[in-house]
Amino acid sequence: MASKNPKYLFVTGGVVSSLGKGILSASLGSLLESRGLKVTIMKLDPYINLDPGTMSPFQHGEVFVTDDGSETDLDLGHYERYLNSKMSHKNNFTAGQVYEHVLKKERKGEFLGSTVQVIPHITDEIKKRISIGAEGNDIAIIEIGGTVGDIESQPFLEAIRQMKLELGSDRTLFTHLTFVPYLASSGETKTKPTQHSVKSLLSHGLQADILICRSEQNLSKADCKKIALFTNVNEDCVFTLPDVPSIYSIPVMMNKQGLDEQIVEKLKIRCSKPKLNDWKKVINLENSQKGETKIAMVGKYTELVDSYKSVNEALIHAGIHNGTNVKIEYIDSEMFNKGVKKINADGILIPGGFGNRGVKGMINVARYAREQNIPYLGICLGMQIAVIEFARNVLKLDADSTEFKKSTKHPVIGLITEWLDDEGLIQQRTEESDKGGTMRLGSQVCYLKKTSKMAKLYKKQRISERHRHRYEFNNNYESTFNKNGMTIVGKSEDNSLVEAIEIKNHKWFVGCQFHPEFTSDPIKAHPLFKGFIRAAKLKSK
Ligand code: GLN
Repeated sequence: MASKNPKYLFVTGGVVSSLGKGILSASLGSLLESRGLKVTIMKLDPYINLDPGTMSPFQHGEVFVTDDGSETDLDLGHYERYLNSKMSHKNNFTAGQVYEHVLKKERKGEFLGSTVQVIPHITDEIKKRISIGAEGNDIAIIEIGGTVGDIESQPFLEAIRQMKLELGSDRTLFTHLTFVPYLASSGETKTKPTQHSVKSLLSHGLQADILICRSEQNLSKADCKKIALFTNVNEDCVFTLPDVPSIYSIPVMMNKQGLDEQIVEKLKIRCSKPKLNDWKKVINLENSQKGETKIAMVGKYTELVDSYKSVNEALIHAGIHNGTNVKIEYIDSEMFNKGVKKINADGILIPGGFGNRGVKGMINVARYAREQNIPYLGICLGMQIAVIEFARNVLKLDADSTEFKKSTKHPVIGLITEWLDDEGLIQQRTEESDKGGTMRLGSQVCYLKKTSKMAKLYKKQRISERHRHRYEFNNNYESTFNKNGMTIVGKSEDNSLVEAIEIKNHKWFVGCQFHPEFTSDPIKAHPLFKGFIRAAKLKSK
């Protein structure tokens, strides 16, 4: 039963970034959900950009797309992989959005001429968005991006300080994730950075209730005691989060230390004991993985693996459920501009991407996978590449996507407005979004051909998957493709858009216009990724 007055668990980070606040928040959420509570998680991003949609994957990692078509921070991907509850546009906002909203109000005169200030105007807007996101849940975990001490995070810390004052300690709890380095030369664990970080938090009026200490190894009792003493936190509220081989062991590990018990006690929540069977199953499956299946991931953002976070995780999930360790090798597609000699892999994956760079090499790679009968999964851009390759080398057409070459003779991939008449449903799908483009975004229904590999994998024909793209397969070529061995196996609900292709005479060659990686989780794994890894594993034998 969801409460009318949600409780708030705030998660901040200190000392250094990249400690895994997102994964910690997701693990906490999952523990609380497993106790029968209705949980949501929000990510508050202190940067000024209006959303991560237009940020470079090199800087910011993947853009995660929710069912409702919001382009959000990749941490929301972690939340969905650990929780049953689904995220929406309400679960992520940036300082930029807050300021934009307040400034628009100011222009409309809604502040009646008063001076518009960080406190209370910006902080009020932050608090309002937090409570809208939390609505209908028993508990909302609020992850504040960045590290305590950053200039940008100050209004956010101030807002949550006010929330504690307004709602009291039965409804608010502060968890701080910090780093405890180990100095190998002296053989010592150093608690000073943590002491400073908690002090810095205190200077914003926030006393940490719970500390989670990231470290290479488990901290000793003595270390925890020392940290507790210097940070004014109860000793039994100092937890340690050592490096682990699998991020999916964290919920059970934190439960063993009693973290969720402390949280429900402190927030005075009455609920059942956690049911962790699903997580224990995942751990068992991970422990019994044997051998290696090599996947070559050929893309253009390969320098930062976070750019393909959800694809990486989906491959790992599929490995867990196929009893094999998936080893991903990231290869910059520009390496193959002149052709492919050999790719040493059991499967090849071309993920999503935008723009012209690297496309030449990708087309060569798709050809290699097709001709060498190597399992191939093409996601979004990866499907479009496979289509162009097939059109050029099998159908012998001078084909391209109009994204890469505007005046191509055979636009096998193009903007729907470029190749369809201007009537009908299509137009409705390409409304200008406020992101300055015509992006097809979010969850949409797709129908699969009964006889397709995909329908067998999904075990159904009607599926729903998330989209994030502008270009589409050009329907004018549908029958030519079908006749020549690349089969159109998936269409949109109204039959107007191509959603998926397969090559008939091939071990496993699948392309989809949607992004299946966004809906994969470790407990079930995604059918398409499971099928891909199964085929690759067979090849590796
Ligand atoms: N650039 C392509 C398009 O806009 C593919 C996008 C993607 O892979 N997400 O359609």
